[in-house]
Amino acid sequence: MQVSKSNKLANVCYDIRGPVLKHAKRLEEEGHRILKLNIGNPAPFGFEAPEEILQDVIRNLPTAQGYSDSKGLFSARKAVMQYYQQKKVEGIGIEDIYLGNGVSELIVMVLQALLNNGDEVLIPAPDYPLWTAATSLAGGKAVHYLCDEQSNWYPDIADIEAKITRNTKALLLINPNNPTGAVYPREVLERIVEVARQHNLVIFSDEIYDKILYDDAQHISTASLAPDVLCLTFNGLSKAYRVAGFRSGWVAISGPRHKAQSYIEGLDILANMRLCANVPAQHAIQTALGGYQSINDLILPGGRLLEQRNRTWELLNDIPGVSCVKPMGALYAFPKIDPKVCPIHNDEKFVLDLLLQEKLLIVQGTAFNWPWPDHFRVVTLPRVDDLEQAIGRIGNFLKTYRQ
Ligand code: PLP
Repeated sequence: MQVSKSNKLANVCYDIRGPVLKHAKRLEEEGHRILKLNIGNPAPFGFEAPEEILQDVIRNLPTAQGYSDSKGLFSARKAVMQYYQQKKVEGIGIEDIYLGNGVSELIVMVLQALLNNGDEVLIPAPDYPLWTAATSLAGGKAVHYLCDEQSNWYPDIADIEAKITRNTKALLLINPNNPTGAVYPREVLERIVEVARQHNLVIFSDEIYDKILYDDAQHISTASLAPDVLCLTFNGLSKAYRVAGFRSGWVAISGPRHKAQSYIEGLDILANMRLCANVPAQHAIQTALGGYQSINDLILPGGRLLEQRNRTWELLNDIPGVSCVKPMGALYAFPKIDPKVCPIHNDEKFVLDLLLQEKLLIVQGTAFNWPWPDHFRVVTLPRVDDLEQAIGRIGNFLKTYRQ
């Protein structure tokens, strides 16, 4: 008899690590070198964590053998609390902070604790697809609102409003955005907060890229504009501190918690059930947040991330039929392929054919719940030489793919 996956997984997919990646692994086993622009994992691209973080984790290993409090170490949560004071979010106390094995674990937890079957969550399109997958897994329905490429990929607020129903429970913002690189200005955030206020929606604000900003972009925490709205703000060490493998993240709850006692009890149950987050990595949080912010050396003029962002954007726009909005934050670009120049009907097949022909791995736009097969995502993490090779290969491939 066949053993089947549960029905709960019927609508759950996470194609960033999906079928195309399996082909890439097979090609590597056969001895091919694959240029990989598919995953936002800084370490393999030569981005090292600040030394003081590593030293602190090593120094604390002997005392990190047991479980911690299920919400996390006091010192780490205190550092997170102070971080939100700096970001002008009012009234977050130690008890409002939960540490997790990366933001990923917390995304699953906050949705499991909130959603009944059929409850809806407004999620951007394109999105970071874990949000859609975790909503479905929790029995909810992901309702995608459009972000507008013509307006710097800012959320289309009329579309958000049009998609609110009696079942809508929460609204997600990913800012700075994965995959588009958009960073939302105050006016846009204020208008979205107003929508949440009017319709009693919980706001989820995924701010894991809040320190990876280019040119004059400024990051504003949504919660700082919404003291009267229940806001859950997510962040962690994977990106700005380059320790994605440590699995260290947090969520901080702000706003009228007295109206959310039952939800908070639910979160506590789930936090207790998974005992605690990886304790050695919790020790990294205080040092990371309080220490030298070496990420700035990478994003300011002369910094490696900024140079790579610039080159990626230029090279993509140089390809006939490809256009790309300049990413203002995060580690990605999300270009468009003009359907008149190169009509693509199945973008997963497009990405697979590119892999097979050019030995280059990128991710198709529909993997980010973008509704049309005309975009793809690249990471801006490789060195400029590799980016030039990789984007050159995309240009070559598109020439042949046109017929
Ligand atoms: N949120 C966004 C927008 C991301 O891009 C990622 C990882 O790429 C995550 C959350 C998950 O991060 P973590 O490593 O903390 O689980």
